[in-house]
Amino acid sequence: MEGITESELAGFGVGTLLLCATIAAPKIDALISASQRSSLGMCKRCGDLRIIACSRCKGVGSVRVVGPFSYSPVDDIYQLLGGAAGGSATKVRSISCANCQAKGHMCCPICSKVP
Ligand SMILES: [Zn+2]
Ligand SMILES: [Zn+2]
Repeated sequence: MEGITESELAGFGVGTLLLCATIAAPKIDALISASQRSSLGMCKRCGDLRIIACSRCKGVGSVRVVGPFSYSPVDDIYQLLGGAAGGSATKVRSISCANCQAKGHMCCPICSKVP
């Protein structure tokens, strides 16, 4: 009197294999993602998202600066937009990130070269 039939045993084996594959998938994906992306024609840098997080502001879009302030076009624009109204007494303030135009991300340098 067997409790488990052959088909049930096979099903159990397949289920275990699927479970293992599911657990291992992210690791395998991380391992082969770079080569996989290039083989699929995807961008190695961004995976065809066409944008990458700004390394200067870490995706925030603004950078905190401590005075004294040296002249920069972005700082000037900030003042024109009303930043000066807040008073110039504070020596720490945030200005728009010039690296990404305050978006927090920018076009992928690899993708953007492709017309
Ligand atoms: Zn930025
Ligand atoms: Zn890219």
